[in-house]
Amino acid sequence: MFYFDPLYLLFAIPGLLLGLYAQFKLSATYGKYMRVPAESGLTGAQAARRILDDAGLYNIPVEEIPGKLTDHFDPKKRALFLSSDNFRERSLSAVGVAAHEAGHALQQQAAYAPLNFRMAIVPITNFATSACYFILMGSVILHSMRYIGGPLFSGLMTLGIVLFAIVALFQAITLPVEFDASRRAKEQLFRLGLVSGNERAAVSRVLSAAAMTYVAALVTALLQLLYWIMVARDRR
Ligand SMILES: [Zn+2]
Repeated sequence: MFYFDPLYLLFAIPGLLLGLYAQFKLSATYGKYMRVPAESGLTGAQAARRILDDAGLYNIPVEEIPGKLTDHFDPKKRALFLSSDNFRERSLSAVGVAAHEAGHALQQQAAYAPLNFRMAIVPITNFATSACYFILMGSVILHSMRYIGGPLFSGLMTLGIVLFAIVALFQAITLPVEFDASRRAKEQLFRLGLVSGNERAAVSRVLSAAAMTYVAALVTALLQLLYWIMVARDRR
């Protein structure tokens, strides 16, 4: 049984376009500065190592992983993972992204509250992500086929919307975490002399482009949440 509502497109398309634009902007900016070597001559891995060591985080390893822009800091494993390009290349993009991931390690060291909160809601968010569409679409289909009545439909829709709101909350808390990691990254790159005054704007551009993808994800989630709230109200 396939559920389709033209109204859904109205809510889905702006997020989709914004997401595509953010992805395009990120590949263009990241690609551009991947071809600009950092004056320091450091690879992404070396830059991250310098930032971590300076903060006394000698026990956090910097490891290489396959894929493109798969870079991340794992707060549970307390390890930094850089995609091959960023691990090996001596470019402004590689140094910028690597420093951003080191920024997440600095957040953990500083017990930065939004990072801890984000970590704490990961399990419930994973559950909510897989369960919310199932519950929302399932209730609408069953209700339109008259398999379930109004009260049960309302209850299930409320449950689905609460789960969706948890997903949106996760996307929302991701924003300060990401912006703050970039802020810490730029501060350290500059303070440790890993990036010159001339290079600063380029690194900022790469990190801002990366942050835009998180803004797009939040807008997408909020519009969809609004859509489901409208469906629940209209059908009640
Ligand atoms: Zn990040």
